[in-house]
Amino acid sequence: MSKGFLQIFEKLYAYYGPQYWWPADTVFEMLIGAILVQNTNWNNVEKALIRLRPVLHPEKIASLKTDELAALIRPSGYYNVKAKRIKAFLAWFKKYDYNIDKIKQLSLVDLRKQLLNIRGVGKETADCMLVYAFEKPIFIVDTYARRLFKRIGLQMPDDYDDFRTQVEASLPDNPKLYNEYHALIVEHGKVHCKRKPICYECPLFHVCDQQIEDNIT
Ligand code: SF4
Repeated sequence: MSKGFLQIFEKLYAYYGPQYWWPADTVFEMLIGAILVQNTNWNNVEKALIRLRPVLHPEKIASLKTDELAALIRPSGYYNVKAKRIKAFLAWFKKYDYNIDKIKQLSLVDLRKQLLNIRGVGKETADCMLVYAFEKPIFIVDTYARRLFKRIGLQMPDDYDDFRTQVEASLPDNPKLYNEYHALIVEHGKVHCKRKPICYECPLFHVCDQQIEDNIT
């Protein structure tokens, strides 16, 4: 089997199946979750979302004072910073009447540029929003993807966008594929390719340099 990005995707998909991401009831919840998950784990995000649920609507959150919002999202950590970031995101969202469909009509390049101009929205957060809220085809570069491709033995650039475009160059322009790929990499990073990998029965075992090294040493 070759070590192409598409082949890796196919192996992961065959093993884990569809992931049905993002874990959110609504697109708006996804967008807020993408900010809450910065520098924390998903368990803390879920706790914050439970407290936020009664006001989980753009106009309701926009009407809260920043410190009221911060108090609600406290379990997600960095809550004062994240409250300001959510407010900044909502100010941008309002320009489109909080209408996801209007935003979807923008090109990927234009929309990404706008998202990156929002204070507190970095590349990984913007790309999660692009894939899971606005259904655009873009590869999300995160710790799991960096670790996985390095262990497999692929030469990947450190720079976020160089890494991203290297992967995208060999994948079809299909938003659903990018949706599944990121979710599968996260799942794989939690089940097999953990910080200390569990290589036994890994679906990528036969293409991975890491397990070959481990077996030799
Ligand atoms: S064989 Fe091990 S190191 Fe390689 S991808 Fe699988 S779990 Fe990760």
